[in-house]
Amino acid sequence: MLGSGLTVALIVIIVTALLIREHASTLLAATRSTTNIAQLINADVLRNVELYDLALTGLIEARQREDLSGVAADIRHQVQFDLSTAAPYKGEVLLLDAQGNVIADSSTLKPTSRNFANRDYFQAHVRDAQAGLFISRPFRIHCNCDQVWRMAFSRRVSGPNGEFAGVAVATMRLAYFDQLFSSLTIGNGSSINLLSSKGVLLAQQPLLERDMIDKDLSDRPNFKRILREGMGSFQAISAISGKERLYTFTSVGALPLIVVVALSSEDVFAQWHRAALLTGGATGILCIGVLWLSWMLRRELRRRHRAERVLSELAATDALTGLPNRRILDERLRLEWDRAQRSTESLTLLMIDVDHFKAFNDRHGHNGGDEALRNVAQVIGSNIRRPADLAARYGGEEFAVVLPHTDAKGAWVIAEHIRSGVAHLPKVTVDGRPITVSIGMSTWNKRSRTSLEALLLSADQALYEAKHTGRNRIVDAADLG
Ligand code: GH3
Ligand code: MG
Ligand code: MG
Repeated sequence: MLGSGLTVALIVIIVTALLIREHASTLLAATRSTTNIAQLINADVLRNVELYDLALTGLIEARQREDLSGVAADIRHQVQFDLSTAAPYKGEVLLLDAQGNVIADSSTLKPTSRNFANRDYFQAHVRDAQAGLFISRPFRIHCNCDQVWRMAFSRRVSGPNGEFAGVAVATMRLAYFDQLFSSLTIGNGSSINLLSSKGVLLAQQPLLERDMIDKDLSDRPNFKRILREGMGSFQAISAISGKERLYTFTSVGALPLIVVVALSSEDVFAQWHRAALLTGGATGILCIGVLWLSWMLRRELRRRHRAERVLSELAATDALTGLPNRRILDERLRLEWDRAQRSTESLTLLMIDVDHFKAFNDRHGHNGGDEALRNVAQVIGSNIRRPADLAARYGGEEFAVVLPHTDAKGAWVIAEHIRSGVAHLPKVTVDGRPITVSIGMSTWNKRSRTSLEALLLSADQALYEAKHTGRNRIVDAADLG
């Protein structure tokens, strides 16, 4: 059971380790593919923002050219907005003066009178001469189509002495991001996001909630971490869906933009979960099978062990008297003999024979004889007390007693107890006389130069002598001379 328990534990450990490794490699593969997506977006956005920047710097440079003031308005317009044409998803490209008034418009030669002094980008350039390329918050333009979100790229226009002379601004439809993001397949429950470095959501595909665009996410723990780290990936619970997601994010070049690819962990690990469930289930069944088989085997082995013990006890016991049989007697006698030779301790053998048993049988029948033998055996067994002593049925109505570490004197006392015990057995009589036994006794001690066979023979001779000298008595082989 311990072995199969350890095997099961080993199987479970191996399968768990494999599943953990598989989980890690699934995560690694997902992180790698989302990093690639983020890099792809990164490159596309960078290139487009560059186009917008080119349009703005072209407009500013054309504005600062002295030679253009004298040319026809349409040529000046063309030169000013020449580089704007390449920018994709372009809205308007405007030039604002220092007060925020539109003084040039890519869409018309005669700009309508509008003022954008209150816009965030205009304020940013007024405040900071080093603002460089400024990316505004998303805004919705006032037209019938209320889904048209835009954002503005702007640069400061400086006068001859470096003073603030206005702002060049180009707006872009955020549909650009939607088109870019939706061209990439990322799976259900996942989204691609573009954030400003201040935590404002510029684009999200697919939209996880309504009115997400222009939302400030900078106070959400996951976005706090993204804004803080700028680049990397981690797994966390989404504040929007409440489900675990794998966030991979990177800054777009040196721009204040961050691309965040958020994959649903459920999606990423769906296949792994299926495999884990299958493998786990199969392993579980296997382990239960192994344990069940081991348990069955153990039960069977125990049953067999018990049966073998009973069988060996039966094989060692005399069925009639319950005393050990001749086979055990021979084994133990040989064992005790060898032990006595080594220890030089005395060893005594008693041979016991029931007197006139034939007559008893004739009188009481075989069953009565059996009963008498059981009673005699019981008397003999009850006088054997030390664990090393052995009383056995030698055969027929004969018994033998092996008494290790026992000299003739001690053995005589035991033999006498047996003899008188049998003689006093109630209700066991032959022709009115009690049933009796004759006992031949032979002792080996360190002074005797004899063999086990000689010990047996001398005990037999002593018994023969006891029979011939009147029965119901003990004869010590040593007294035979
Ligand atoms: P002695 O005093 O000289 O020993 O006379 P005996 O009659 O006891 O000796 P004998 O060897 O002539 O007879 C032994 C008898 O014991 C013969 C047999 O019928 C009987 N006997 C031997 N084994 C069993 C047994 O298992 N059950 C019964 N009922 N009788 C047995
Ligand atoms: Mg006999
Ligand atoms: Mg006899």
